[in-house]
Amino acid sequence: MQLIDGKSLANKVQSSITSEVEKLKQEKNIVPGLAVILIGDDPASHAYVKMKAKACEKVGFYSITHNMPDTISQDEIVATIEMINDNPRIDGILVQLPLPKHVDTNAILEVIDPKKDVDGFHAYNVGRLVTNLDSFVACTPLGVMKMFEEYKIDLKGKNVCVVGASNIVGKPMASLLLNADATVTVTHICTKDLKSHTSKADIVVVGVGVPGLIKEDMVKEGAIVIDIGINRIEDGSLVGDVDFENVSPKCSYITPVPGGVGPMTIAMLLSNTLKSAQVRI
Ligand code: NAD
Repeated sequence: MQLIDGKSLANKVQSSITSEVEKLKQEKNIVPGLAVILIGDDPASHAYVKMKAKACEKVGFYSITHNMPDTISQDEIVATIEMINDNPRIDGILVQLPLPKHVDTNAILEVIDPKKDVDGFHAYNVGRLVTNLDSFVACTPLGVMKMFEEYKIDLKGKNVCVVGASNIVGKPMASLLLNADATVTVTHICTKDLKSHTSKADIVVVGVGVPGLIKEDMVKEGAIVIDIGINRIEDGSLVGDVDFENVSPKCSYITPVPGGVGPMTIAMLLSNTLKSAQVRI
């Protein structure tokens, strides 16, 4: 069994981004800029945004966070995004999810200029991803693809079972895998007999939010298991969606939690923001 080390791969990606930022500053006098919209006081969202801001600083980006109370109206959020859309110093806009219940998340995401949509959630970018055109791709699945590339894991013709079908994880993951010529099965909460799907797969990618959902008898010998789940359990520790202790001995490759997909998500956010800055007009 080989561990897929997301932390060291993310560090490698970040160092190459740092060099590219230096080049961009010297050649075009451009400093990539990321704006984050953070609404409410959910501790997990605050922690994620802090990590993202720190990562921006580390690679030499300019970053700003618009902190708003959870009583803010839809119109005020829209007005803020429109203002950032027009800000020439900003190349990427990220709206930290989840948003408060009274806010229409899809409508908010649609206001982001698709050219600054570094999270890849705008329907324009989703459509381009599905049709295999160049686009901004959601950071978590993009990070998983980078892991496959780094570890030279061939996807062509492989049976891949994606567990979880959200707009931000499972669906873009499935599109990327399909674009890479894998045979993809997408499963979700209504799937009957999940095990019958996961146990046939050469690769299982799970992003659900249920600790220990994937058990030893659900994966075949030699499978590759990618665990996107991040769950804080009672003792305060972070675990994924895979029963790591019992599943890992059966795997050829597996990602740990923490230190797997999580760091790659932030690295891909930086990578998407750099990509946007490189075509700034
Ligand atoms: P979500 O709640 O939007 O979607 C969950 C998906 O899992 C849904 O499609 C649902 O049908 C499916 N599901 C739920 N229970 C299931 C079950 N018992 N069997 C099969 N499918 C089931 O969640 P999300 O935003 O997609 O996040 C999923 C997980 O990934 C969470 O743990 C989240 O913290 C984590 N996540 C991690 C990163 C990262 O950087 N590693 C990024 C985003 C999300």
